[in-house]
Amino acid sequence: MQVFKKNNSLDAGMKLNTRFLYLRGAIFLIFAVLSWAAFYAMVGTINEQWGKQFAHRQVLFDKYRTLSPLIREIKMARQMAAEPALIGMGMHEEDMVARQRAIRVMERYRIGYRDHSYFAAFARSGKYYFNDEDNKYSGRQYRYTLSPNKKDDRWFYATLKDGKDYQVNLDPDTHLGVVKVWINVLLKNGDEVLGVIGTGIDLTDFLNESVGIEQEGVHNFFVDKNMAIQLSADPKLIDYASIAKDASERIKIDVLFNDPSEVVRLRQLTDELQQDPASGEVRTMWVTFQGEKHLLGIAYLSEVGWYDLTLMNEKSLAVLHGFAWFPVVFGLLFLVALLVLNFFLQRWVLTPIGKLQRATDEIQRGNLDIESPLVGKGEVAALSISFRHMVEVVRKTNHELERRVQERTEDLHRLTEIDPLTGLLNRRGMTDRFEKEVARQARQGGAMGLLLLDLDHFKQVNDIYGHAAGDVALCAVAKILSSMKRSYDHAGRWGGEEFLILLPECSDEDLLAIAERIRAAVAILRIETGTQAFSFTVSIGAHHPSTPQTMDAMLQQVDRALYAAKDAGRNRVMSSV
Ligand code: GH3
Ligand code: MG
Ligand code: MG
Repeated sequence: MQVFKKNNSLDAGMKLNTRFLYLRGAIFLIFAVLSWAAFYAMVGTINEQWGKQFAHRQVLFDKYRTLSPLIREIKMARQMAAEPALIGMGMHEEDMVARQRAIRVMERYRIGYRDHSYFAAFARSGKYYFNDEDNKYSGRQYRYTLSPNKKDDRWFYATLKDGKDYQVNLDPDTHLGVVKVWINVLLKNGDEVLGVIGTGIDLTDFLNESVGIEQEGVHNFFVDKNMAIQLSADPKLIDYASIAKDASERIKIDVLFNDPSEVVRLRQLTDELQQDPASGEVRTMWVTFQGEKHLLGIAYLSEVGWYDLTLMNEKSLAVLHGFAWFPVVFGLLFLVALLVLNFFLQRWVLTPIGKLQRATDEIQRGNLDIESPLVGKGEVAALSISFRHMVEVVRKTNHELERRVQERTEDLHRLTEIDPLTGLLNRRGMTDRFEKEVARQARQGGAMGLLLLDLDHFKQVNDIYGHAAGDVALCAVAKILSSMKRSYDHAGRWGGEEFLILLPECSDEDLLAIAERIRAAVAILRIETGTQAFSFTVSIGAHHPSTPQTMDAMLQQVDRALYAAKDAGRNRVMSSV
């Protein structure tokens, strides 16, 4: 059986299973890190986007809930400032009729104002008129006379000087003991400024309705164009009477932010919003407020010239805050997916390949009779089928080879016992049969005869007719021997032109009869050589031992008989006894 040598030139290295284990680990790690990063980037982006949208809405919401009452008051005050009666009073304040007509008009407006109060201050006289909700000053609306030298009255002169049609200002009125959001509208006759009229809204009320409404994580500030804080839930932060103060005296948003660069950025954003005041745009930026990260939304309120600053705590903005479990679950699911993949990889590929490998090892060891396994799925199954076919082919080929080798060996073995010229057994073959027959006879008993033949004067035959003719004669004699021997007799060429016949189970008479028949058949044989023909004779020695003898002894006896036949004149049969 052929044994295949293992080819060690290819180093198989790490097992597939181990490789896949590392591969899985690597994939899982990379995936986990990437998905974790992607998740946090995504959550951050979503939070930021959402925060910005929230800021946008919050700012617009603040803007309108704060502005709508102001706008209403501004509108009404401007309407009042356009009343001819008031302009008339501004021009002729000393005229009692004009004055009373104007006061009547203002009293009518007072009912409409939110605070049910109004004021009117006139440039020429400096006189200040006022009435409130309770109509406390009915008939004595003139309250006092303003003075440019009084600190508390500075707002009036500043407003006149500023020249803007209307302004919103926060001011504690020390005379009246109230802090109000004042809507100051210039009273004008053409280009001439006659005074400032308007109304106020109680700041406490106002704060309650706008910046004072508590929202978790949200803070509101309104600042004027100089960044002075106008509205805040914390009244301490409000910069009262901003218009009357020097820039250095004002409470600015700088108090809210510790980082100066944030204030710089905020100013940049407000400047950008200033470029297009009517756009209603909202800008956002991240700031640190009260030690925590906040998203700051900024909108410009063109109606009052203020900015609405809405600060939203990052934590309250984080919509996806509670989703930290998500990547963990995702990771676990991925791990499960990898394990399932591994299970089928193992089942369909690795285990079947392992079985196939064990089968090949077995075949390498020369065991071709194993049943190679049918395993795996798909390509692996196809491979195992091909492998089984291959094993079958190898097995068949191997058997066929073995059969042929056996055949050839037998052929070769036979050839060594056959005489190539005559086709009879040669001396070796005859010796073999002789030994076997002697052994058999020793075991079983029984008579055995032996004939030794030598052609007469054969040297002459060769000399006269040639060696080839001699060969033909030898073959003709061999043919006679083959046809005349019994099936179980052995006839062979003992050497040259000598033949030996071994006749088991043969009586003395039969032996001599057969010898005689052979002698006669040779004697009448005619060999044609083309041009000539010739005949020849044979002398035969016969030996038939009465008791079992060794081979050498028998050969000696038959040889002697043959010589006797020669001596007696040839062409005859002589027995050894
Ligand atoms: P005898 O009657 O005394 O046997 O005379 P003989 O001439 O046959 O003498 P011997 O047996 O001594 O000589 C055998 C001759 O047989 C010698 C040789 O020329 C011839 N011979 C032996 N083998 C062959 C063979 O294979 N082919 C041929 N053609 N001749 C052979
Ligand atoms: Mg001879
Ligand atoms: Mg002879």
